[in-house]
Amino acid sequence: MSALHQLYQDMIIDHGRKPRNFHVTENANHVLEGFNPLCGDRLTVYIIQKENLIQEISFQGSGCAISMASASLMTEAIKGKTVQEAKKIFEQFRGAVMGNNTGASPDSLGKLSVLLGVSEFPSRIKCAILAWHTLINALKNGANTVSTEDGK
Ligand code: ZN
Repeated sequence: MSALHQLYQDMIIDHGRKPRNFHVTENANHVLEGFNPLCGDRLTVYIIQKENLIQEISFQGSGCAISMASASLMTEAIKGKTVQEAKKIFEQFRGAVMGNNTGASPDSLGKLSVLLGVSEFPSRIKCAILAWHTLINALKNGANTVSTEDGK
């Protein structure tokens, strides 16, 4: 049970209940909805990209604590970063969550490392990845809804 206990650390619960940057951004130039049909998590990511910088990022939606906490932590990690930096953080985070060694350490992931406990729970990995999957597709100027079951 200790791994499960770790999974629901205080920070996840806190971010899950009181997600940061949880609002619509009116003048966003990237808006994309992400859906994880396996769990029912659904969220929309709003981004204001100015040149190469992610100036503003917010989200709205509903889902399990993991998906909400991950989206909340993502907005904190990504705001003010360049698109390239955001993609790099995504790759490191995804790799770490999926249990691959991408050279990411808890240090390089910062607060995002509280989510790494999901790597032991395959059914929850998509909950943790949903917001990121949506972010990356939104930056590609995606439209409509992106599902965690699309592509891979
Ligand atoms: Zn979920």
